Amino acid sequence: MNLQNHLIARIQAGGPIPVSDYMAECLLHPQLGYYTTRDPLGAKGDFITAPEISQMFGELLGLSLAQTWLDQGSPAPFTLAELGPGRGTLMADLLRATRGVPGLHAAMQLHLIEASPTLRAVQNKTLEAYAPEWLDSVDALPDQPLFLVANEFFDALPIRQFIRTGNGWSEKQVGLKDGALTFGLGPAAPQPALEHRLADTQEGDLVEHCEAAVPVTQAVATRIAAHGGAALIIDYGDWRALGDTLQALRAHEPADPLQAPGEADLTAHVDFEALALTAKTAGCAHTRLTPQGVFLERLGITDRARALAAPLAGEGLETLIAAHRRLTHPDEMGNLFKVLGLYSSQATPPPGLNP
Ligand code: SAH
Repeated sequence: MNLQNHLIARIQAGGPIPVSDYMAECLLHPQLGYYTTRDPLGAKGDFITAPEISQMFGELLGLSLAQTWLDQGSPAPFTLAELGPGRGTLMADLLRATRGVPGLHAAMQLHLIEASPTLRAVQNKTLEAYAPEWLDSVDALPDQPLFLVANEFFDALPIRQFIRTGNGWSEKQVGLKDGALTFGLGPAAPQPALEHRLADTQEGDLVEHCEAAVPVTQAVATRIAAHGGAALIIDYGDWRALGDTLQALRAHEPADPLQAPGEADLTAHVDFEALALTAKTAGCAHTRLTPQGVFLERLGITDRARALAAPLAGEGLETLIAAHRRLTHPDEMGNLFKVLGLYSSQATPPPGLNP
């Protein structure tokens, strides 16, 4: 059975499914899902992420979190956690860069929230020396100070899509036409979760809603509010999303999201306003949404690049210069990717971000 046949059988039996169910099946079906069955990162995979581009990314995130830990009085013990750690590269760079911070490594308990058994095995190789513990859900995080990173995690959570109509919202669905998967629309109905979008949308507009992000953000924010800590959330998206951002990527090229389900990465832009409001309701402060390029420049990426460049020449130097540009330049990842910080309302925001 492949995933396409499984989805067709499911729709034949139960009718069209919301886009969120389609995304969840494609990415995380226990046997046939995209993340469950492969390591999709890197040049030979389907996409590349900031930590895979350069060690500078994880190092600077690590120093920002370490400074925040010091600013909050070096609480011990504390949880260091990552959502969706991929190959473990970001965490390995973060931990190497913070080795010299007195007491930090001794006080930390490393927790990785990862759904894919394939990627857990890769993370185990990269991070074995730090004795990480894997969790299925953020709800299992200990009740203690929490310092957390999430890079390109929230964009992988399933979204629902709604089109505004005269009498409510019609949900976009995946159904069947002549035996093949196709997009369609459900009946119009009111959507309480989209009340706040009535002011800035009009008939025909498409709005996305990521229900799955709410409990995750709540679990992180309530721990930070109760015990202290901070979270750095990095992803593509904006303060308030409008329009269809569902995209499929296969071998570094855009693909049709309904073509070859389970064989392509599926993502949607992150609605950072929704995360910030959820955090605020849970009693946690949030920073201004900041472009990744600005954030990394404030943390000194150019100085770090110069130091790494000193012994290099030729191809090595070219690669480093290209990586610096790719992470920071507004025409590359610098502007498309944004950073949102969550932090204890009794503390100052993580370095690189403003309240
Ligand atoms: N942060 C890494 C990897 C990003 S890819 C990097 O920047 O390179 C998305 C990651 O999130 C993968 O590790 C994937 O397996 C994981 N993931 C996706 N959905 C998840 C979920 N619902 N729960 C836990 N992990 C998930």
